[in-house]
Amino acid sequence: MSADLRALPSIDRLLGEAASLVAAHGRAATAQALRDTLQAVRDHRPDPLPDAAALVAEAAARLARQARPGLRPIFNLTGTVLHTNLGRALLAEVAIEAATAAMRDAVALEFDLDTGRRGERDSHLRGLLCELTGAEDATVVNNNAAAVLIALNTLGAGREAVVSRGELIEIGGAFRMPDIMARAGVRLVEVGTTNRTHPKDYLGAITPETGLILKVHTSNYRIEGFTAEVSGAALAKIATDKKVPLLNDLGSGTLVDLSRYGLAREPTVREAVAEGADLVTFSGDKLLGGPQAGFILGRRDLIAAINRNPMKRALRLDKIRLAALEATLRLYRDPDRLAERLPTLALLARPQAEIEAQARRLAPQVAALLPAGLDVEPAECRSQIGSGALPLETLPSHALRLTAPGGRALEALQAALRDLPRPVVGRIQDGALLLDLRCLTEEALFLDTLAALPRAALA
Ligand SMILES: *Cc1c(COP(=O)(O)O)cnc(C)c1O
Repeated sequence: MSADLRALPSIDRLLGEAASLVAAHGRAATAQALRDTLQAVRDHRPDPLPDAAALVAEAAARLARQARPGLRPIFNLTGTVLHTNLGRALLAEVAIEAATAAMRDAVALEFDLDTGRRGERDSHLRGLLCELTGAEDATVVNNNAAAVLIALNTLGAGREAVVSRGELIEIGGAFRMPDIMARAGVRLVEVGTTNRTHPKDYLGAITPETGLILKVHTSNYRIEGFTAEVSGAALAKIATDKKVPLLNDLGSGTLVDLSRYGLAREPTVREAVAEGADLVTFSGDKLLGGPQAGFILGRRDLIAAINRNPMKRALRLDKIRLAALEATLRLYRDPDRLAERLPTLALLARPQAEIEAQARRLAPQVAALLPAGLDVEPAECRSQIGSGALPLETLPSHALRLTAPGGRALEALQAALRDLPRPVVGRIQDGALLLDLRCLTEEALFLDTLAALPRAALA
């Protein structure tokens, strides 16, 4: 005998008992959640039927779930510090404050406070960028993909761009250099081979049709072995001799010598500018540690041409990001205190010994909070920088290594961790779930969050 569905309370009666839900979520959403709850009961016909209080509680759970923001904070324990799918750089507190202030109030976005006349959006960053890099002029757009697109289009529309076959990168998503060139209206002229490109290759390809030479940082891979590439300095000389501009896409780009923080040395933006590139482009939210943005620095006449390109309006930044960028760049004026103030750099530079101590401290506490049948032990691992920055370099780190008797249990655990109020994301490696602790700064909150896990053994 299945339950008699006619015994279920009416929506009106349930709404009467759900006053606090109506106050929190509104009458329409509450009524819908109650209807969905009743429909689920009709579909599954549990016996005995839930009473009114149980139905309201179930609707409350539905509403709470719907109210969780899609972009709520998560614990990034993947070991990839600049994880593109997890939003890349974490901003400095001063940048967050600047962005918040710009959101809340009117700001002099395009208004010159000295003259009272119309001002320029780029003026807030130009001085800082030129000071920090030695560039003559600068502008900023939505991201580095946009920076490359508008720079290519401005320098080379209807003409040719000469680029090494070793640098025709795909960054991920749909960012493939040949496709971007086509969309920018530039004809691609490939020179050299995958592993070796020489000055004579560029020289042989430059014709009156050439609009620019493009150099691209091979961000996410390295060609090793029998290789040759033409340095930025040598290319700059060729570009000057042949009177064609050189665009150098640095990818991540960095304003400081990272070896100061125990990372591999990458050429800085200042060095790329000094080498003689006419324009350089790089990202705001990779190693720089700011919000998503793309910088274009270099010759004043070329920056002016970019600013006249109608694409600029479509690719420009809003006041919120400009405020955050300005505050982030200002931190670079005091490199000695950068690692304390810029979270991305602090995480990248975090000493392994500190992470290991954290793993040893947390392992027994986490074991006590996880479902039965799981093993937790501290284990050495390697973190990645991410976003194609320093692709071969990994950083020694420490993880909580979670293992379960059956493989299915690990997948169920991963799903349960993703379903927490503040989701926990790790990575599966060698049959274990690794929670790399490099980016775990809020330890107490992490333990509180895990306490919400269902404790029953996972199937
Ligand atoms: C990451 C990268 C880009 C794209 O930058 P976004 O800021 O992600 O748009 C372009 N070129 C290179 C070489 C890169 O590494």
